[in-house]
Amino acid sequence: MAQRYQNIVIGGGHNGLTCAAGLARAGQSVLVLEAAEDIGGAARTREFAPGARVSACAHLLHAMPADLAVELDLAGNGLDYAAQDMRTVSLSESGETIVLHGSTAQGKAVSEADAAAYARFNEDMQRFAKALRPVFEDIAPELSIETWRQRLTLLGLGLRVRRLGRFHMRELLRIIGMNLYDLLDEYFESTQLKGAIAMDALLGGEWGARSMGSVLTYLYRVAGYQRNGGIGVALPKGGMGAVSGALVGAARAAGAEIRTGARVTQILVENDRAAGVELDSGERLDADCVISNADPKQTFLKLVSVDHLDTGFVRQIKNLRSSGKAAKLHLLLEGAPRFKGVEESGLGSRLIIAPGMDEIELAFNPSKYREYPAAPVLEITVPSASDSSLAPQGQHVVSAVVQYVPYDDSPDEDANRAAFLETVLDQLERYAPGIRGQVLAAELLTPRDIEREFGISGGHWHHVELVFESFLFNRPIPALAQHQAPIAGLYLCGAGCHPGGNVMGIAGRNAAQQVLKGGH
Ligand SMILES: Cc1cc2nc3c(=O)[nH]c(=O)nc-3n(C[C@H](O)[C@H](O)[C@H](O)COP(=O)(O)OP(=O)(O)OC[C@H]3O[C@@H](n4cnc5c(N)ncnc54)[C@H](O)[C@@H]3O)c2cc1C
Repeated sequence: MAQRYQNIVIGGGHNGLTCAAGLARAGQSVLVLEAAEDIGGAARTREFAPGARVSACAHLLHAMPADLAVELDLAGNGLDYAAQDMRTVSLSESGETIVLHGSTAQGKAVSEADAAAYARFNEDMQRFAKALRPVFEDIAPELSIETWRQRLTLLGLGLRVRRLGRFHMRELLRIIGMNLYDLLDEYFESTQLKGAIAMDALLGGEWGARSMGSVLTYLYRVAGYQRNGGIGVALPKGGMGAVSGALVGAARAAGAEIRTGARVTQILVENDRAAGVELDSGERLDADCVISNADPKQTFLKLVSVDHLDTGFVRQIKNLRSSGKAAKLHLLLEGAPRFKGVEESGLGSRLIIAPGMDEIELAFNPSKYREYPAAPVLEITVPSASDSSLAPQGQHVVSAVVQYVPYDDSPDEDANRAAFLETVLDQLERYAPGIRGQVLAAELLTPRDIEREFGISGGHWHHVELVFESFLFNRPIPALAQHQAPIAGLYLCGAGCHPGGNVMGIAGRNAAQQVLKGGH
């Protein structure tokens, strides 16, 4: 007789773990089944060379709600920070850096007018993000207004926008669908400053500064900073795996069971409702509810038989945009890297290579045609500068997000990856002369590698592109916006759901609420 649980969560990414912790804390039985041997999904620490450890995908924590961290006692479960409230330093080939911190922008390249404009820009964006924040955090509102709760959710959004006052309300409605390129041009003169700001909106997406909706994704990022309880941009001690480790602690303490090396091959549907799962070992496990942390494409195109799904629904899932454009570079260096204009004491900052918005756009363009950029843009950290446990003594690890890298499944994939690694090192050399000669080990994970290693379709940061047509009550498609699938007892809890990706646990928390509300 198969073992029976109230809930089975497919996938032990940070959202699956958050969901499991929420359900277990409500007194329900939960089993998490993770395909990989390591827990955490894209929020994991791993050794890529002897003694050299990095956050394998996500490397900076900036969007997790402070109340979630308290609720699950992540600190008590081992989460600590090697760095908090990190500065953003925009690098330049000339060595003239720009430092962004809070409402200040400083550096020789920042004119007085730009410094004042940055304070004003920051104030405006904080104001707008605050009005939208609940929408980025709550379960997506239903568009039907059948119940008072649904009416109140939509009314609440309208009221918050109205409360901005006539001037700011109009301004928000004017800019919300705009592209960041045009908006930043309205505020600033400095090309380098605009490039540095734009990166916050563009990391992880298949879009450039000129793409429609990039103002919205900027506000999404700012809302994350507002909810994180003052940690700003932070490096978890021991890498991002420490966040997942703390979530495992919280879930287990509440009674959840977690199994790794347990790949689900099928979601079983009986009498029109989810009945359990089958593993690659052939083992069957029964449950009242199945909650998938896997991305929507994997969940509905691989794990559920299409016989149980409407053809229109399947078509929408197939057409979801999920081609990742962010790669991850890991380097082990024989000493501290020497970035132009950055003292060794400044290596604990978040370093940006994005000389301007045109350069970002130029890096983005080739990826549309599955080509690699000649001058990629990067978000770089040197985690060992703040956490010496990550590298052998005297050595340093570099962890960098590299954009824009196509999803390459061509026969030349390996050669292309090797050639592109050289391109990235060339780009780094321009900003950190001598870095090439310091490299003891290097790895570059392309979106295709991320798909293979982390089980994410397309290797996409957000599982599904964070664009208007897959945002809010459309995410990932309207029929799934409240986490519930068209099959009774089947739910989604990962980054592909509203409100999207980043290590924040909101999708997992909201999915648990929906499961509890839906009953079995
Ligand atoms: C290159 C890169 C850099 C990033 N940098 C940052 C960053 O700095 N900061 C930030 O906040 N975010 C960052 N992100 C985004 C962030 O990592 C993700 O949005 C987030 O980790 C997604 O979490 P999740 O739990 O929803 O899904 P995942 O982490 O993808 O977890 C899903 C889990 O399900 C498992 N699974 C899948 N299929 C099965 C199956 N059939 N059976 C069993 N298990 C299965 C997978 O193995 C995986 O563990 C980055 C992403 C990428 C790709």
